Amino acid sequence: QEPTDINALADEYVRLAYHGLRAKDKSFNASIITDFDDCVNKLNVVPQDIGRVMLNLITNAFYAVHERSKQDKADYQATVTVRTQKASNRVDIQVTDNGYGIPDAIKEKIFQPFFTTKPTGQGTGLGLSLSYDIVKAHGGDIKVESTEKQGTRFVISLPINTNA
Ligand code: ADP
Ligand code: MG
Repeated sequence: QEPTDINALADEYVRLAYHGLRAKDKSFNASIITDFDDCVNKLNVVPQDIGRVMLNLITNAFYAVHERSKQDKADYQATVTVRTQKASNRVDIQVTDNGYGIPDAIKEKIFQPFFTTKPTGQGTGLGLSLSYDIVKAHGGDIKVESTEKQGTRFVISLPINTNA
């Protein structure tokens, strides 16, 4: 673990995810809103690991809005918002999308290894299970709120450790 600027890390991984998807599919298009809390100080984390979590959540969000944009062509603006927020003893990183949402029937399965609803070759189903393990290893928590056909929000909470 090393002292890590969480806002800079989030910013880097938003760009990485966006450019990665654009490179694979030129039709990919989404608005990205970032809102980074200036009060977020450095946290002691494994930056590559927390980066992977962010990359997975942001990639999932982009996928969900992209799929929805293929169906709801009119008046739909695909939007992904990445926000950081400092609380008294933790930092929250929120990834919110207005994509197709997660049906209640599968909500409790999404953190299981190999669970995916994506076509073969598009998803391994490992992203969220790995993300869960990484966040837990940091003493944090990962939560999801989702409404079908409206969107999804994942929140990662990381404890504020002194001396970072
Ligand atoms: P993968 O992306 O390879 O499918 P993940 O573990 O990252 O694996 O996600 C598992 C499943 O959770 C996805 O296949 C999808 O059904 C659901 N999911 C995850 N994030 C979202 C999201 N933002 N919107 C809708 N469904 C999601
Ligand atoms: Mg994924």
